[in-house]
Amino acid sequence: MRAKRMRMLAMEADTATLIRRAATCCKLSINEARHGFGFYNRQLHRSTRARPCTPVQVTNRLPEFKLTKVAEADFPSRFGQFRIFGFQGLKGSETEEAIALKMGDLSPALGPALVRIHSQCLTGDVFHSLRCDCRSQLELALDQIVAEGRGLLIYEHQEGRGIGLLNKLRAYELQDQGLDTVEANESLGFEADLRDYALPAAILQHFGIREVRLLSNNPEKVAALERAGVAVVERAPIIAPPLATTAEYLRTKREKLGHLF
Ligand SMILES: [Zn+2]
Repeated sequence: MRAKRMRMLAMEADTATLIRRAATCCKLSINEARHGFGFYNRQLHRSTRARPCTPVQVTNRLPEFKLTKVAEADFPSRFGQFRIFGFQGLKGSETEEAIALKMGDLSPALGPALVRIHSQCLTGDVFHSLRCDCRSQLELALDQIVAEGRGLLIYEHQEGRGIGLLNKLRAYELQDQGLDTVEANESLGFEADLRDYALPAAILQHFGIREVRLLSNNPEKVAALERAGVAVVERAPIIAPPLATTAEYLRTKREKLGHLF
């Protein structure tokens, strides 16, 4: 059983290395490399020898991102009165979903609005897990938006920084054996953070928002949004009080992922 699991982990790590190598070599994004195995010569990237990539044909880059608003409704909540929006993003054959909670008038004439981009954390957001600070961040963000009377919360359907719910639980298992959150993701064959921000950027554009005051501790999120064409005029920190159960997780986010708090 253990040998089978080790073999599986080794295979996944091997795939992650292949994706990274192909991305660098063919100048693809990690996502394009991940989904683009049909588009270039996989065998070539198996080799560890340095080779020029000119013979590799990237025949079909992933098409542009297409956003559709699927639904919009009133949304009274414990925090306050919002409008709720359902969005679907289409990238090639891949579909991403997100919802947005909007409060007040977001027109740029009133100044840049507070925006939180929150990645789904079922264990934290629903079950109030104390392994992470996601639920506290979600509540603090909603409280701040309500206090200002205007702002937008985008909730992305991307569990565990993009690795998926069951893989996140597998990562927890590895963390129980002594790995930190970044090492656990990497030993499962994933980058520390797989998210790209094409979907939230498209949603901001839908609301006519070009400048935001971003509720985040993550400088990489600021950089990624700016790469996606959104100006972050202010980063508003969102600090949940540390608990004994989150101290190690927060320390890793600070030291390895560069989060600021
Ligand atoms: Zn969480």
